[in-house]
Amino acid sequence: MKTDFPFFDPLPGESEVVYLDNAATTQKPRCVLEALQNYYCRINANVHRGAHRTSRLATEAHEAARRCVSQFLHAASEREILFTSGCTEGINLVAQVLALSGRVREGDEIVVSTDAHHSNIVPWQMLCERVGAKLRVVPLTPDLSFDMTAYTDMLSSRTRVVAVPVVSNALGLRLPVEEITRAAKEVGALTLIDGAQAVAHEMVDVQTLGCDFFVFSGHKVYGPTGTGALLGKEELLESLPPWKGGGEMINQVTFARTTYNKLPFKYEAGTPNIAGNIVLAEALRFVQRAGLPTIHEHEKKLVRQLVAGLRELPGVHVLGGDSPQRSSLVSIHVPQVHHYDLGTLLDQMNIAVRTGHHCCQPLMQALGITGTTRYSVAVYNTEEDIHRALSATRRALDMLR
Ligand code: PLP
Repeated sequence: MKTDFPFFDPLPGESEVVYLDNAATTQKPRCVLEALQNYYCRINANVHRGAHRTSRLATEAHEAARRCVSQFLHAASEREILFTSGCTEGINLVAQVLALSGRVREGDEIVVSTDAHHSNIVPWQMLCERVGAKLRVVPLTPDLSFDMTAYTDMLSSRTRVVAVPVVSNALGLRLPVEEITRAAKEVGALTLIDGAQAVAHEMVDVQTLGCDFFVFSGHKVYGPTGTGALLGKEELLESLPPWKGGGEMINQVTFARTTYNKLPFKYEAGTPNIAGNIVLAEALRFVQRAGLPTIHEHEKKLVRQLVAGLRELPGVHVLGGDSPQRSSLVSIHVPQVHHYDLGTLLDQMNIAVRTGHHCCQPLMQALGITGTTRYSVAVYNTEEDIHRALSATRRALDMLR
């Protein structure tokens, strides 16, 4: 599998890096890199408005990419798929159009989880400030799970939105998103599910999840940076106002009045990231060929080995321990050892991990720590990678204590 990823091609005199920073971004397979080159060499033209052949080819490839994303998420229709630059843009879009539409007002409540990424907290805080709504935060149980009892107690007729991740990017634990959306629906709240840490690791079916909105980022699923999608239920997107104004999102413009395009173009003002969106679809096809159940099993095995090996190291605290909700990453905290020092020593041993608060400062505050060292796996990682990472961690900790 690594041979499909040019990043791992050995350079003369250099040993191969053990790349365990996949939750931040993944490496790209050759088919994705070739698709990017093919786009610019063969079909580069602006989409939707051109009469010429190349523009038609680009438009067909772009809309085929949308169909691919739609099928990948098991969406009801490709009209529900809006291309974005990633999770952050998707969540901001939803928060802002909900404010614009008046669907969230003074006194209303937005519910988020303690382990959310900043991109699934700050846009909601901004919305709350703008309209006078209140942010409610679901706490974690002592074993760092989403506190379902506290959550259901928090829900009321004032709850307008519930926004949670499928998997926490700092803890690596999966939330009971299906139950969360079901409970939200009972009080008439909208749900936004952040799939950033899910789509590369498990099969996602947005209809089974039962959410109103779903976001993911292309670069975390072997695609290019600056790509991603927001799925929104069709009738909801139809009823909400547009966000950015410009070309493509209009039907007719006069100085007196503008009417808007049909879905999904109403939300795609300006020239889209044509190359990026087409190549994102190539990345999703790569994942489909590898098979998500196979990827899931492979990564689960590696993560089990990581958790077991890290727990054997003296003084190492694995956040979430051997929780059955564990997904494809593991965060550790070592009292008296700064995560940055550990990450730096691991880097010197050619092991790439991520250290810090992982854009989850409120979670770190709740845990009473400043950060963690995070090991995250992807389809190309091997047992040898895990073995090298564990033995390097042991050596680094010996040096630091
Ligand atoms: N949500 C989660 C759970 C994440 O892990 C990340 C990125 O790490 C994001 C959202 C933001 O993704 P992006 O920066 O690609 O918009």
